[in-house]
Amino acid sequence: MNPRWNGQFSCFDLVARTADKAGDRSRTVVQVRDIEIGGDDFVVMAGPCAVESETQILQTAEAVAKAGARILRGGAYKPRSSPYSFQGLGVDGLKLLSKAREETGLAIVTEVMSEEDVDLIAEYADIMQVGTRSMENYALLDALGRCGRAVLLKRGMTATLEELLRSAQIIAVAGNPDIILCERGIRTFETATRNTLDIAAVPVLKTVSHLPVIVDPSHAAGVRSLVPVLARAASVVGADGLLVEVHPSPEEALSDGDQSLTFREFRDMMNDLQPYLDIQREGRELRPPLLAVGGAD
Ligand code: PEP
Ligand code: MN
Repeated sequence: MNPRWNGQFSCFDLVARTADKAGDRSRTVVQVRDIEIGGDDFVVMAGPCAVESETQILQTAEAVAKAGARILRGGAYKPRSSPYSFQGLGVDGLKLLSKAREETGLAIVTEVMSEEDVDLIAEYADIMQVGTRSMENYALLDALGRCGRAVLLKRGMTATLEELLRSAQIIAVAGNPDIILCERGIRTFETATRNTLDIAAVPVLKTVSHLPVIVDPSHAAGVRSLVPVLARAASVVGADGLLVEVHPSPEEALSDGDQSLTFREFRDMMNDLQPYLDIQREGRELRPPLLAVGGAD
């Protein structure tokens, strides 16, 4: 671990507690409907990169729910690096997500890119996703502090963990303690994968903050064949869950098809994860958390 962090930050100091939780040294468990993120369960959020049509989102919701996902992902407002790419269905996409929730009981996570959209998206979403390109949009973070919904904060692709935690702190100080951190891969010199999954980020973040930490193996890998093995890695380093892209026919997806799993691949991944999750759970019962930070604690 960065020696600068040793002794400088004691456990749990990096994201301030809101006033009513100040002094509380326990981990944050984010409650979303009947789901606890950061508690005993490994929570899988799955679905397409973007909501494209009613059939696409309803079929996907049903398939991922059946395979054990608890939360449906799907972008209605998409951050695209080209103005000619599909930008998302906007409010129509939000309505389709809401319909999928009614039909399957899955909670909804969807991205918010602009502070102006916060109120509207909060009417439909259970969790507000902040994308990698928005981690440093401080006006957005501040608005999310008052949105009344849990926030999934993705690490900026060139952000340090300290910067990620500072962004989380902005949301927390603005009044919202329900923050889930997400490692989604960072930019390095390596080009074999779309991004480089910083697997050490999980135990480090879980040591220096009280917040739940999940992993997005899809954007880290960029190719679907690597997604299951990165998901497995996340499960054994203590992640609290996953954010995974799944599409009924990835080759026809309007965004991120190369890294999206088919329904069958998702089901297989969930089955293959189970023994690793069982070991993790047993391990947690037998011993205290893996890392201890030097310093005040
Ligand atoms: C996404 O989840 O589809 C997405 C755009 O992710 P990221 O912000 O990590 O690139
Ligand atoms: Mn995507």
